[in-house]
Amino acid sequence: MTQVETGPSNFIRNIIDDDLKTGKHQSIHTRFPPEPNGYLHIGHAKSICLNFGLAVDYPNALCNLRFDDTNPLKEDADYVAAIQEDVSWLGFKWAGDIHYSSDYFEQLYAYAVELIENEKAYVCELNAEQTREYRGTLTSPGKDSPFRNRPIAESLDLFARMRAGEFEEGSMMLRAKIDMASPNMKMRDPVIYRIRFAHHHQTGDKWCIYPMYDFTHCISDAIEGITHSLCTLEFEDHRPLYDWVLANISIKCKPRQIEFSRLNLQYTLTSKRKLNALVVDKIVDGWDDPRMPTISGMRRRGYPAAAIRDFCQRIGITKQENTVELASLEACVREDLEANAPRAMAVIDPVKVIITNYDEHKTEQLTAPMHPKDESMGTRTLPFSGQIYIDRADFRESANKKYKRLVLGKEVRLRNAYVIKADEVIKDTEGNITEIHCSYDPETLGKNPSDGRKVKGVIHWVDATNNKPAEFRIYDRLFLTENPGAAENVEEVLNPESLIVRHGFVELGLADAVVNDAHQFEREGYFCADNDSNTEHLVFNRTVALRDSWAG
Ligand code: ATP
Ligand code: MG
Repeated sequence: MTQVETGPSNFIRNIIDDDLKTGKHQSIHTRFPPEPNGYLHIGHAKSICLNFGLAVDYPNALCNLRFDDTNPLKEDADYVAAIQEDVSWLGFKWAGDIHYSSDYFEQLYAYAVELIENEKAYVCELNAEQTREYRGTLTSPGKDSPFRNRPIAESLDLFARMRAGEFEEGSMMLRAKIDMASPNMKMRDPVIYRIRFAHHHQTGDKWCIYPMYDFTHCISDAIEGITHSLCTLEFEDHRPLYDWVLANISIKCKPRQIEFSRLNLQYTLTSKRKLNALVVDKIVDGWDDPRMPTISGMRRRGYPAAAIRDFCQRIGITKQENTVELASLEACVREDLEANAPRAMAVIDPVKVIITNYDEHKTEQLTAPMHPKDESMGTRTLPFSGQIYIDRADFRESANKKYKRLVLGKEVRLRNAYVIKADEVIKDTEGNITEIHCSYDPETLGKNPSDGRKVKGVIHWVDATNNKPAEFRIYDRLFLTENPGAAENVEEVLNPESLIVRHGFVELGLADAVVNDAHQFEREGYFCADNDSNTEHLVFNRTVALRDSWAG
């Protein structure tokens, strides 16, 4: 398993420390409970790093992966598989087997029967509209359902027949009998079972009644012996119900629910529902589109798992709602890649350079370091044949002193190679530059000119004969507004330049670049080979630019 860094202290760790000190628990057990109705996103990464991170840090601690799968209409086995892959890729290992809330359907049913037997639940036949009406509002109490006091035996019989499939969807439900006047709406006789004739990805057609989240979650936690059930703040007002259910059934284990604030990230949607809409509306090219904030999208884009963990650790765990700067996530990615990504050269917007005084029958094999600061990464070979490509932006016919690249009549250093001087520009009939003719100084390989000429600029290049053509996908943020979640229509706040495709060349060594493996293309940014890449057609995704181009 990946070495995961010990997390800094936070209010949840303080609670755990106390629980261990007082002997309330000998060891802790957490869980990460995704609903398999979409792919995991950066917000989930925060919860994963918290829950699994605690299990890594505390002695004998465990963290379960449990699919919270009580809504078969929205769930799918593909999501189950993708979520497992994402958690593993982030570097975490769940305790024992995968768990599913649906594993407990039989036990959940038995606990529901127990509630009915103890007059704590009843079968209600109000329709959806009536149920809403009876529930009251935030400022007015609800009214008791006319079915609230029906005999226990009648509710038991009807509940069994609901399970047997005798009634239509929406005609009956099982409700907890709590308090219709409670100031907490969640406590106004919440529905705990409903009828759904739906095929379930785990249980098939075995069930036609499904338990609701609030009933299922606390019992699943208790069955698994979870000590600390960590969730986001929107569940704060569910906590009394969590505790009520566990207090009113015969289960021994009483986990403690603790809420923390969600991760909100600038320029980013962190809602599976909204991300799903981007996929369905074909605004992006699937859940793992590199512009998506999904874990699979970030992986495809080239974000290292360690950088995501580092980010989650830096943002910390609190109860304060806030929005984190996108720049801070990108900074974590850059910091990791700066240290770990081998260097290479790629020309993204190529123009040809002919070195007129270079022997046209000769090809040299030049040597360059894989990483300027890490010798252990070794070296690479760069063929040099006297015809090369440079980037269009690296040449000007005339420029002032601030421009430290190639200018007509002036010199520049080719990275890892020679100093060249631009002598002549060849243009097509429309005035576009098609070739730049240069001369090189053979004495300048790896060293400065001996006569004291000052050559400040360095540009990158790729040999024009010995190279690989490549497609470059230059990604940028998907939205132009800081809070796209607030937009009425996200299509109106899309960044039209979130993907720009270019065709150019990479050095030969990248011919078999491994998908997702990071490279720094010198002076261009960090890139990785995309899933679509193969030896016939190389495709590189820009993971992140070398610097934050949005910084003001
Ligand atoms: P979404 O709103 O995207 O559908 P969800 O909360 O419904 O997310 P679940 O699959 O139920 O998604 O979430 C699994 C766990 O991840 C929950 O414990 C939830 O609190 C946590 N989680 C989801 N989104 C975030 C977020 N933005 N920040 C931190 N934790 C999150
Ligand atoms: Mg949810």
